Amino acid sequence: MNNTEFDKRHIWHPYTSAINPLPCYEVVGASGVELILVGGEKLVDGMSSWWAAVHGYNHPALNQAAHKQIDAFAHVMFGGLTHQPAIDLCRKLIDITPDGLNRVFLADSGSVAVEVAIKMALQYWACQGRSQKVKLIAPRNGYHGDTFAAMAVCDPINGMHSLFQKSLVEHFFAPAPQTQFDQTWNADDVLPMREILEQHHHDIAALILEPVVQGAGGMRLYHPEYVKACRKLCDEFNVLLICDEIATGFGRTGKLFACEHAQISPDIMCLGKALTGGYLTMAATLCTDEVAEGTCVGDPGVFMHGPTYMGNALACAVANASIDLILEGAWQQQIPRIEKQLLEELAILNDFESVADVRVLGAIGVVEMKQQVNVADIQQIFVEKGVWIRPFGKLIYIMPPYIIEPEQLKKLTSAIHFAIQRLYPN
Ligand SMILES: *Cc1c(COP(=O)(O)O)cnc(C)c1O
Repeated sequence: MNNTEFDKRHIWHPYTSAINPLPCYEVVGASGVELILVGGEKLVDGMSSWWAAVHGYNHPALNQAAHKQIDAFAHVMFGGLTHQPAIDLCRKLIDITPDGLNRVFLADSGSVAVEVAIKMALQYWACQGRSQKVKLIAPRNGYHGDTFAAMAVCDPINGMHSLFQKSLVEHFFAPAPQTQFDQTWNADDVLPMREILEQHHHDIAALILEPVVQGAGGMRLYHPEYVKACRKLCDEFNVLLICDEIATGFGRTGKLFACEHAQISPDIMCLGKALTGGYLTMAATLCTDEVAEGTCVGDPGVFMHGPTYMGNALACAVANASIDLILEGAWQQQIPRIEKQLLEELAILNDFESVADVRVLGAIGVVEMKQQVNVADIQQIFVEKGVWIRPFGKLIYIMPPYIIEPEQLKKLTSAIHFAIQRLYPN
């Protein structure tokens, strides 16, 4: 059996059928902004491997950090042991995240970071003698991961709540924010959220949202005032605010963290994806001193969570190198430049009958089609055109590595233009 057949027959890939899977392309190398396929084709990467590879592939500084750490030690248990890479990483995360987030829980994936955030919120209220506060509230169209507690706060339709109805906890959902990022703020947008909180705050532990950019739940870019208003509502109704910045963190939206657009600090923040520059799986849940201390008063007195690979030293070392690159600051020129070019080159797609909307924020470009995109057909065209773009649903979207050059970005936008013209002509 050759690789393609074996893969198709035996290996699960994300979000595809086990009976009739979408085609997979075999990668043999990746360098800078390019993926190299087994046939030698070089593809300009428009996805940053799902928001993660912000500095591109095979980066000398990240490679060096990994080599150095693996020659020292790759991993030791975090129970009762600690190490410099973890201490450096947590120091950096506390420094660069919004004020007040002083405690770091290192988790092994974004979904786990969300589980940890939810568990913290519930345990915090239980320890305050408010054990009836066990529900969460989230705007619709959110995405927070694929594990069960995370799934239960994802958009009820995208998150397929009906399929898992009996095993998912039922939470509260407010309508998704409607005021777009660049529109005039309409304060009514947050009224439904206020109404639910007014009525149910005694039962609600936390409000969870993805600030400003709803990612996998629809690639929606919404107004920072909505985030600000949610912060105020949380204060008013004694509910913790969890900001899931797993996709938006580390500069992607033009600010280091998306909640800076709203100038707020959450009580709990989840980071992941770009944390290790796309090298290794690692995530972090940060919280305030108040949440951390409030979680550990009374019984059981400890926070009951501890993944085997918690604080993995290899991942910490690479994360440190990745954050150092971020701190050098090139992203502050790169992101506005990418944003400007995306706006210029994607705008004309608005004239297409088949296109519903084009939107851009930072290094994120989204083309929403009126109908579902045929992923297999469009990817074949993309690969022929020398680019890697992976649409889902009606969305063709790109969030390239920050180091992308203008002519490489042009290749991505031209390929989108070409593919739409070819598959969905007016
Ligand atoms: C990807 C993502 C997650 C889940 O992270 P995994 O590492 O895939 O488990 C959670 N929240 C948001 C906003 C994400 O984009």
